[in-house]
Amino acid sequence: MLQTLQADITQLDVDAIVNAANSSLLGGGGVDGAIHRAAGPELLGECRLLNGCRTGEAKMTKGHRLKARHIIHTVGPIWNGGKNGEADKLRACYTNSLRLAAEAGLRSIAFPCISTGVYRFPADQAAQIAVESVRAFLETPCSIQTVTFCCFSEADRMRYERLLEA
Ligand code: ADP
Repeated sequence: MLQTLQADITQLDVDAIVNAANSSLLGGGGVDGAIHRAAGPELLGECRLLNGCRTGEAKMTKGHRLKARHIIHTVGPIWNGGKNGEADKLRACYTNSLRLAAEAGLRSIAFPCISTGVYRFPADQAAQIAVESVRAFLETPCSIQTVTFCCFSEADRMRYERLLEA
């Protein structure tokens, strides 16, 4: 099941939340900063052992002080006009995050709107890629039962609701 929610992703009770991290995996602003603050300093300690993450790839840690059991850290592309593979890289973020969750047998996962903050990916196109790549992944049976698009703004929630109705 795909659903949308307008919420702070750090508060969700799911098997995994996805972090829109940067390639250092050592914390940053936006949703990344919020996740590190809520999960506590032990998260940074675990992230230090991961040696960073390339754009489009994903790595998993424990959820530490979060209700969520795991955090899947993925690095979205920085928007640079759209002709530099941004769409493919964003698709890879969703697919690789879902693959990690499925390999771990997880049932529920929540995504933020990856790359649409400081990385400036156009929100409409990003939402389309998010919904398309999740739908495509779930065509093959796996452990994942519920995917939540956790929007911070009302505009994003409405954007995803329109796409999920289609
Ligand atoms: P990026 O660097 O990938 O663009 P940002 O963190 O700047 O990442 O923004 C990604 C999205 O996360 C934006 O839509 C932003 O509004 C949203 N966001 C910021 N804080 C939170 C939060 N606590 N929970 C859910 N979404 C959040």
